[in-house]
Amino acid sequence: MARLGSWIESHPEGIYVRPADAWIDPSQPKPRALITHGHSDHARGGHGSVLATTETLAIMECRYGPQPGGQAIAYDATIRVGAVDVRFVPAGHVLGSAQIVLEHKGEKIVVSGDYKRRPDPTCACFVPVPCDVFITEATFGLPVFRHPETGSEIDRLLHRLHSDPTRCVLVGAYALGKAQRIITELRARGHDAPIYFHGAIERLNQLYESFGVDLGELRFAGGATKQEMAGHIVIAPPGALNDRWSRRLPDPVTAMASGWMRIRQRARQRNVELPLIISDHADWDELTDTIRELKPTEVWITHGREEALKHWCMTHQIKACELNLVGYEDEDE
Ligand SMILES: [Zn+2]
Ligand SMILES: [Zn+2]
Repeated sequence: MARLGSWIESHPEGIYVRPADAWIDPSQPKPRALITHGHSDHARGGHGSVLATTETLAIMECRYGPQPGGQAIAYDATIRVGAVDVRFVPAGHVLGSAQIVLEHKGEKIVVSGDYKRRPDPTCACFVPVPCDVFITEATFGLPVFRHPETGSEIDRLLHRLHSDPTRCVLVGAYALGKAQRIITELRARGHDAPIYFHGAIERLNQLYESFGVDLGELRFAGGATKQEMAGHIVIAPPGALNDRWSRRLPDPVTAMASGWMRIRQRARQRNVELPLIISDHADWDELTDTIRELKPTEVWITHGREEALKHWCMTHQIKACELNLVGYEDEDE
């Protein structure tokens, strides 16, 4: 009997699905690409044809301009690509994010893309699909990574904000996904005040709203005075935290929302005063619980700390190996 998943090839620049002649999230331009989600390390420009969800295509258009080779696929619809049945199901990572389910010759392989299991008001929840091979991300694949409840992190942010109305809290959050999630989580915690934003996240905010995600009252920080922003939250991409731009703000408390904030040194490197452990990736428990739930025969592990998860799989009698793909950077997740 052939090795399980022998029709899938792992190359440094991505996963190649041979009987579909298609690449998943390739880091180089390819004639045919299947794209799991809009983060720039997964969705690059320049492919011949692109199969992705409507939302992901819209994000790619927002970033790279018109996508003439783009074909939208709805969640749960099945499309035949070459000799492979391809289905996109929600991954719970960011708006439009998908796992890609591949079926060929009676074998089912699920490529998770980036995913998380906890609820996120800005996107559809992860849907578990039992399979023969689960190709999982492992960004936070170490037992030390256990993300706290999102609500308690948001409460810490609000507590800090209310403790000094002369200052603002500047939250560094990745422009696609994290920024909009922080805003909606704040709204869910009853924070109705206007939230100021850095110009670099404006178009993605608008894109989220065009897909029905209500962000409440937002104001452009560039058009506001220090006095107006005192006592308010300002959201900016992580790169803006320590640059000249932040000087326009009223004595900002610097916060950052990322799974990496679990590591003190990462917070210190960015001069973050208020680290918020809010991640769009599965933590250790989510990774292992998901594998338990899907019961795959094999697990293939990508971008992250593969060793620990591989070991965990072995001790649970699941065959596991690592795929050495390059170019996935989840630094700013
Ligand atoms: Zn991502
Ligand atoms: Zn990723």
